[in-house]
Amino acid sequence: MFLKSPKESYQLEDVPHVGAIVHHATGEKCSRCWKVLEEVSTESQLCGRCAKVVEHYEI
Ligand SMILES: [Zn+2]
Repeated sequence: MFLKSPKESYQLEDVPHVGAIVHHATGEKCSRCWKVLEEVSTESQLCGRCAKVVEHYEI
C-alpha cells in the first residue's frame, strides 16, 4: 500500500512516505501523572484516574 502524506505534516528525509501532524493537546495537565487531559479538574488539578487514587489514600 502506498500512502501520501499531507504537505503540512512533519516528515523525515530518511523515512519517505511517512508524516506526522502535531496537535496541541487540549485540556489541563494533571498535577500527579502530568498527562494533559480534558477531564482534568481545574479545582483539584487531577485527572479522573488520579482523583480516584488520591481519594483512596486520603480516607
Ligand atoms: Zn492524572
